[in-house]
Amino acid sequence: MTASVTQPPSSSASYWLVGVDVGGTTVSTVLLDELLRPHGELTVATDLSSPDATLLSIVAAIQQTLALDADPSRSLAAIGLGIPGQQDTLRGIVRIAVNLHWYDYPLVERLVARFGVPCVIDNDVRVATLGVYRFDNPAGEQDLAYISVGTGLATGVILEGRLLRGRHGLAGEFGHMIVDPNGPPCNCGARGCLETLVSATAVVRRARELLALGMPSSLRTLNPLTARGVYDAAAAGDLPAQQIVDAVGTELARSLRSVVLAYDVDSVVLGGGVTRAGERYLRPIVAEWLRQQESSALARAVLRPEILRIADPTRNLGAWGAAALAAEALHPTEG
Ligand SMILES: [Zn+2]
Repeated sequence: MTASVTQPPSSSASYWLVGVDVGGTTVSTVLLDELLRPHGELTVATDLSSPDATLLSIVAAIQQTLALDADPSRSLAAIGLGIPGQQDTLRGIVRIAVNLHWYDYPLVERLVARFGVPCVIDNDVRVATLGVYRFDNPAGEQDLAYISVGTGLATGVILEGRLLRGRHGLAGEFGHMIVDPNGPPCNCGARGCLETLVSATAVVRRARELLALGMPSSLRTLNPLTARGVYDAAAAGDLPAQQIVDAVGTELARSLRSVVLAYDVDSVVLGGGVTRAGERYLRPIVAEWLRQQESSALARAVLRPEILRIADPTRNLGAWGAAALAAEALHPTEG
């Protein structure tokens, strides 16, 4: 941070927090007040034409977000951002964000120079985990894991009310846990990482492999073939699609067992596009846990289906979590 940062407001003041979820396709924002009440949300396309153009598109999105509510009694107090990839949260530098073409990019310094308020960044899935903890947590659980299933798979963990980061900001990177040493190659260079078997990308690859065997399936009519399409086809009774969905769920259930045993969480929350299939997504996971319960007292004690749930699909938990991160930057003892 630079000397141009204004003094943080006292906890009784009125102010704005802006949360930003930066993705390779879109930038989503939310405007919250000091009590974390929403005053507007926005989604714009990410400008990837150059690293600085990406920054300018984020600056513009933040300015448009502040214009969503003209309340003259409030001014901007802090900005939080969730960024894909590896972040140096202390120095405010985006270490590696492949999709954004940012490498050692001094994002916080640039934003502080523009807005003059504290700005904080963290990995997008960890930020979304904070969003789940603060805004999608009706039971007020202090120990939870959030699994984001998309083109890859990543996990965020809250333990005793604190977001785990780890020495290299890699805590909870379960997507690169090797579960099949002879499995498909992973972007990380290894083989058979969890995300090569159960991510949305993996669902599509499994579907292509089954179709190549000549099985009759409604999936042949899908153009493009998407993971969501596979889940819809499974729900409609397509047998190859059901095979894929069940195989993915079984595999994921085994790895979620490791998450539960590693962290002893109250709740495992699943989010991301494919999880919107809801009950059809959870069913094979629950089935595998119940199978494990039949022969294991340990499984009966810890793999209880009621601890599984799908994240609220109506709320942009990445942007909301980023606003919560901004709030923590202002008043660390409240986080
Ligand atoms: Zn990997």
